[in-house]
Amino acid sequence: MIDLRRRQSNTDELTRSAADPRQRDPARSALGSNANTVSSHARKKLGAGGESSALPQDQRERMARLRRWELQNHAAKLAGAKDRVRFCLRNMAYLADGVEIRYRPAKQTARYTGLQTCGSVWHCPICAAKISEQRRSELARIVEAHIAAGGSVWMTTYTIRHKKFNDLADLLKRFLEARRVAKGGNAGIRLRRDFQIIGTVSVLEVTWSKENGWHPHVHELVFSMDPNFDPEKFDQVMRAVWRSAAKSQGLKMNGHGFQIDRTYGAVADYIAKFGHEPMSDKPWGVESEITKGHIKRGRMERHLTPFAILDAIADGCDELIPRWQEYAQVFKGRKQLNYSPGLKAMYQVEETEDEELAALADVEQDEEFTLVRPSPGQWETIVEKNVRGNLLELARVGRVGELVEGLAEIGVEVEPLLQSGWRVSTPGGDATLLSVKNESTRGRWRCSVLLDQAENAQRWRAFDLVEIVVIGGPSPGLAKAS
Ligand SMILES: [Zn+2]
Repeated sequence: MIDLRRRQSNTDELTRSAADPRQRDPARSALGSNANTVSSHARKKLGAGGESSALPQDQRERMARLRRWELQNHAAKLAGAKDRVRFCLRNMAYLADGVEIRYRPAKQTARYTGLQTCGSVWHCPICAAKISEQRRSELARIVEAHIAAGGSVWMTTYTIRHKKFNDLADLLKRFLEARRVAKGGNAGIRLRRDFQIIGTVSVLEVTWSKENGWHPHVHELVFSMDPNFDPEKFDQVMRAVWRSAAKSQGLKMNGHGFQIDRTYGAVADYIAKFGHEPMSDKPWGVESEITKGHIKRGRMERHLTPFAILDAIADGCDELIPRWQEYAQVFKGRKQLNYSPGLKAMYQVEETEDEELAALADVEQDEEFTLVRPSPGQWETIVEKNVRGNLLELARVGRVGELVEGLAEIGVEVEPLLQSGWRVSTPGGDATLLSVKNESTRGRWRCSVLLDQAENAQRWRAFDLVEIVVIGGPSPGLAKAS
């Protein structure tokens, strides 16, 4: 059997396939390189001091997607026995009768059905990416609606001074209590009235650095209806309120303990970057590619978000494992975003739980097609061989032949569930699929198609399944053509 992990495609080839996902290179392993190999491509490609922005966008996104699967493996390995991230997109859902790989040509995406999902925005890089995407659009909608209604939105940040050896559970408890005191006390109530604040959205975040340990902080969007909202004055009042609230919990704030951004751009920026990990314009996993090429120490000196910690662990920084586990334990079950009561209702946005969002992200209106349906036993092999992410990469561009071939390489023989009438792209041009057969003598799948256009009227043609790409559902013109 061929060891998929050992297979490497060179960087040029990776670039080419990224530029045109439908261009198949016969020399390439069907499942391509796994996430580890992708990292090494990136390192090569980036070189010393390289910029990830030099890579084409779709390639960066592909790398980030594969990296998320890899990070999820680590999160699962480090999780407690009952933590749901252990089972996320790994174990079958309770009532599912099988796993399917589904393809959505219009969006060029693919997904699994029949599997459990954990919906944890703190522990699971895959669910967190999906949830953040939904949360981001929700936030953007509310901010837009509020501005349209004549209000203004302000970006504020609450932090505390912290010492290196603070225990995260204790620190977070005090920090959140200080927040409650600041908001709930008379001063907080007066502030809301004076500045005509009709609502807030707060986002809990934490970073860790070797120098300073844990650093919990909250970003809060303040929704005001005051046409003359004075950020200077707000800063002055809120800073004092926060200082005394922090003090009541035995915490101190330094000069940066409270901050208000004076521009609307700060809010837009924050929303645009929301859920990107680390907080930058780069998708997950890519920024870390830059640091990986450098000495580990460089990364250890920075402020790391939890997923950046996980990312470092994936690269062998075992000393960070206790930090990740501490974080995972302390943040389990917490709410990441808090909308003040009534704000969503005011702008007619429905309340949705994280778990629902993770599931909702997969339910869209576009047409989708089941490409393969591995049996439960076969699915176990897929998980074991660590190719869950790679399979979706092939599925999302409709390369069903490579999907089937790649699975065969790891000993998983599945039937391509192609339907006659589907639209396909072939070496002879776009066509309508007529049938798919397994030619057992030649050990491969062949399909017959009807080309849209052909010289000398020879429209019927046969191709290997790996030569075709599914580009859509049944053609309306099929009846006429056949
Ligand atoms: Zn998950």
